[in-house]
Amino acid sequence: ATAEGTRVTRSTCPYCGVGCGVLIESRGDRVVGVRGDPQHPANFGRLCTKGSTLHLTANPLRQTATRLLQPMLRTSRDTPPRPVAWDQALNHVADRLAAIIRRDGPQAVGFYVSGQLLTEDYYVFHKLARGLIGTPHIDSNSRLCMSSAVVGYKLTLGADAPPACYEDLDHADCVFIAGSNTAWAHPVLFRRLEEAKARRPQMRIIVADPRRTDTCSLADLHLALQPGTDVMLFHGLLHVMEAQGWVDREYIERHTQGYEELRELAQAYPPELVAQVCAISMGDLLTAARWLAGVPEGWPAGVPLPRDRRLRTLSLYCQGLNQSTSGTAKNASLINLHLACGQIGRPGAGPLSLTGQPNAMGGREVGAMATLFSAHRDLTDAAHRLEMARLWGLLPDAALPDRPGLTAVEMFEAAARGQIKALWIACTNPAQSMPDQATVRQALDRAELVIVQEAYQTAATCQWADVLLPATTWGEKEGTVTNSERRISRVRAAVSPPRGHTGEEPWPDWRIAAEVGRRLEARLPARSAASLFPYRSPEEVWNEHRESTRGRDLDITGLSYARLEQAPQQWPCPDTAAGGSPRLYTDGRFPTPDGKARFVAFPYEPVAEDRCQRYPYALLTGRLRDQWHGMTRTATVGGLFGHVGEPVVWMHPDDLREEGLRAGDLVRLESRRGHVVLPAMPSDEVQRRQCFVPMHWGGEYLGGASSASACMGHGINGLTLPAVCPRSRQPELKHAAVRIEPA
Ligand code: SF4
Repeated sequence: ATAEGTRVTRSTCPYCGVGCGVLIESRGDRVVGVRGDPQHPANFGRLCTKGSTLHLTANPLRQTATRLLQPMLRTSRDTPPRPVAWDQALNHVADRLAAIIRRDGPQAVGFYVSGQLLTEDYYVFHKLARGLIGTPHIDSNSRLCMSSAVVGYKLTLGADAPPACYEDLDHADCVFIAGSNTAWAHPVLFRRLEEAKARRPQMRIIVADPRRTDTCSLADLHLALQPGTDVMLFHGLLHVMEAQGWVDREYIERHTQGYEELRELAQAYPPELVAQVCAISMGDLLTAARWLAGVPEGWPAGVPLPRDRRLRTLSLYCQGLNQSTSGTAKNASLINLHLACGQIGRPGAGPLSLTGQPNAMGGREVGAMATLFSAHRDLTDAAHRLEMARLWGLLPDAALPDRPGLTAVEMFEAAARGQIKALWIACTNPAQSMPDQATVRQALDRAELVIVQEAYQTAATCQWADVLLPATTWGEKEGTVTNSERRISRVRAAVSPPRGHTGEEPWPDWRIAAEVGRRLEARLPARSAASLFPYRSPEEVWNEHRESTRGRDLDITGLSYARLEQAPQQWPCPDTAAGGSPRLYTDGRFPTPDGKARFVAFPYEPVAEDRCQRYPYALLTGRLRDQWHGMTRTATVGGLFGHVGEPVVWMHPDDLREEGLRAGDLVRLESRRGHVVLPAMPSDEVQRRQCFVPMHWGGEYLGGASSASACMGHGINGLTLPAVCPRSRQPELKHAAVRIEPA
C-alpha cells in the first residue's frame, strides 16, 4: 500500500491474448486506477486504450445497472426471474440437472464455456462435465476463436503449442501478418513491432488481408488478397520457393515428413493462377516468397542458401485464418512454409498464432473443449482416459466419455433439435457471438433448462436464463491465464465483489461449478470414493491441474503459485527445469512418434458462401480498436466510443456511388439468413464489392446519434452462416455473401 492508502495489486488485463500485466490501484473496495506493469514481459508497462480504462469499468456505481449481483431463478418461462439465495439456486440447478441426467442420460447436458474464464474455472467445469456427469459435451467459445490454430499445430508440429514468442519480434528479419489487424486487435504487440521496425528499418513487414487496415501502415508489402484465398496464396508461395530453389532441403530431410506430396500439390498453384484468384500481382507474390523464405538481397539465383545465411521470418496470424471453413488448411499451409524453409525453432523465426481471448490457451490446456481432456489428452485415446480416471480417483465403473463431444455450433443445433435438454453457459454470450442467430435462439427457447453464469446482466443470453448465477469478474477474482506465447500469469483480486440488494454477492466461477458438483454427487450414483470437488481455493485447483500435466508436452509441474508470484513463466516448465521455455523445437525434434514434423497437403477451397448476382457483396466482420466482444464491459466507458461511436457498414466509395448512396444513408444489409439496417460510410480501406461491419453490436442496438432508424436485428451474426471447418469445427464468422439496398 502507498502512503495515501492506495493498495497496488499485480494482475493481468482481461481483454485480448497479448496478456498484458496490470497494476490495479484500489482504496477499500474501490478500484481507483490501473497502470501497465513495467515488470510484465508481455507489455513492459504499456497498455492500450481498453486496458488503460479498465478501472472505469470496475467502479461499483457504474456497475449497478450492468452487473448481475445475486442469483436469480424462475420456474416458468412466463414469469421473470426473481432473486434467491445461493443455496436455493444451487440446489435447484442440482435437482434439475440430476432429473434430466436420470431421465435422458448424461449426454442431454451441454456446457458452453469461455476463453475469458481463468484456468482454474475451466478445470473445474471440465471435471464436472467429464468426471462427474460423464457428458462429452463441453466446448468453449475458443471454438469460435482458436480451434483451427489448435488442429493446424497438431497436424503439422504434433502438439497444440505455439513455438515462437513475442521476443522474436526483436530478432525477425521479416514479419508476415496474415488475417490479423494486429494494430487494433493486439495493440500492445503492434506497438512492439513498430518499435522493432523503427530500430531496424530493414526488417520487412508483409500484411495479407483483404482490407487495408491500420496494420498496413507498417507494411512494406500489402497483399490485398480476395477473402478466403489464403490457402491459394500459401501454396503459390511454396510453388515459387520450390521453383527458385529457396526451400531448405536439409531441414526438410532431417526434420520433416510428407514434403513430396505437398510439393506435388503446390505444382497445381502456379503464380499466374494464384495472382488471378487472389487478385494480387505476380511481382508481389515473388517478393513475398523471397522475403518469407529469408533470401538476402542479391543472393544469386540457383545457389543453395546455407541455414546460417538465411534471414528469419516470424508469422503472426489470427481470426482471418481461423474463422473459416478452410481454417485448418490455412493454418497448416502457413506452417508448411515455415517448415519448408526451416523458419522455426530459432530466435526470430516461427509461426505464432495470436489468441483472440485472454485465456483461450488455458482452456485448451485443461481440456474444456469437445475433443480434449486435461493436459492436451484426447477423449478418443484409451490410455489418456485411463490416466484421467486415475488422476481423478474414479471408481472402475465410472466410464469417461470416449468420443468427442458436440462442438459449439453443433451443440446449439442439437439443442434446437431437442437433443440437448440442459445448457450451462458460462462467461460467454452465444445470443450475440454465435453465427446463425436464428438457430441459436431456437436452441435457447427449446432447451428445458438454461443456466447462465455471468458477471453482466446486459449479456443478451441472460434473457433466456432459467437460472442466473452471478460471477465475479476482473479485479475480484484469483487464478491464472495463459497468453498467446504460452506465458502463464497470475490474476489477482484487488477488491471484493459488490453486494446485491438481497445481501448475496457474485462468486468465482470455479466455486460455483464446484458447489453444484458437490450437490450433484449427493444426487447421482457415486463415481469416486471421495468428492471430486474438495477445493477450498483456486490454488488447490491449480495444483491438481499442474499435477495432471506431469510428463506431458505442456508439463507445468514447476509452476506453483509461489513460483508465479515471482514472475510469469512460459510452458513447458517441469519441476526439474530452471525456468520456462521461450521457444519450442530448437533442436529440430517435434512431439510426433518419430520426432519429425509433418507437411500437410490440403487443397484450396473457396469460401463457404461465394458472392452471386443476388448477394453480390462479401461481408467481412471484425474487431474495432476500442471495443471488446459484445461490449458488456467496454460499453460502460463513454470514452471508448470516441473511436467509433455506432455500428456502420464501410463500403468502397465507388460502390457507395454506384448504389446511389451518400455517406450516412441507411442501408439494408441482407444475407440468406437475416438482415440489419445500418448507416453506410465510405472507406477506401475496403475493396470493391466488399464491405466491413464491426462485430460488437448485438441485436439490442436500435439506432444511435446519427441513425435513429438503424436496427441490428439479431446483430451481425444474424447474417453469418453456421458452416464450419470440417477438421476444427470452427465456423466461418469472417465471411458471408450479402446484398446492400437503400433502407
Ligand atoms: Fe489488454 Fe490486449 Fe490492450 Fe494488452 S493489448 S492492454 S491485453 S487489450
